[in-house]
Amino acid sequence: MSEKIYETDELRISWKPKLCQHAAECVKGAPAVFDVGRKPWIQPENGTTDLITKVIDKCPSGALSYTRK
Ligand code: SF4
Repeated sequence: MSEKIYETDELRISWKPKLCQHAAECVKGAPAVFDVGRKPWIQPENGTTDLITKVIDKCPSGALSYTRK
């Protein structure tokens, strides 16, 4: 599995597990959206587009990225 896609009406979120360094910026920044104890671990419907894009911008590894629709 090289990439997982999570979509909302406004965003297309990509997560590349091989790049993830588990720095947890995402989990700390938006715990309702990013929760590794849950499946699926990313639930973008639990956060606003603004919050999600801000948190993804902090991902140090590039594992998380997004495009706006
Ligand atoms: S912020 Fe990026 S590197 Fe850190 S746990 Fe989240 S996806 Fe992985």
